[in-house]
Amino acid sequence: MKDYKITIEQCKLLTELLGKCWHEVDPERKSDLWTYCYCKHCKQLVKFTIKTDGTIKGFIGQRTFTTDKDKDDVFRKLVDSGKWEKFGDYNNKECYAREIWRKEVYPYIDENTPNREKNYLTWLLYDSERFNVLVAMALEE
Ligand SMILES: [Zn+2]
Repeated sequence: MKDYKITIEQCKLLTELLGKCWHEVDPERKSDLWTYCYCKHCKQLVKFTIKTDGTIKGFIGQRTFTTDKDKDDVFRKLVDSGKWEKFGDYNNKECYAREIWRKEVYPYIDENTPNREKNYLTWLLYDSERFNVLVAMALEE
């Protein structure tokens, strides 16, 4: 079971954090090209993929925020924009409030476990989707 499942709204927030457009179809402007449409935000012609029922599945290049590359880029963006420390403080506080420390972090860093390298930071960074969900939650505040 996955405890941290990223939502579309969170993907949108993180895409904007990275300074990119979360494309959405401009209903006012039609494209003559198959699987292309104009975006109502950036006004560009963007390519999309479709589901079997013909509706839009997603846009080419749109991130899922489940990969290590996504995590790296989000992490670097937080550092470069001076938001890393604020995120750290928020996340720390939030983890206590939501009992994440007790349920997840403490068992992870138990000093009796064979792997002593485990600590809060490795817990935070080990699962890319979890990391991205936690950052998105901080941005939602
Ligand atoms: Zn766009």
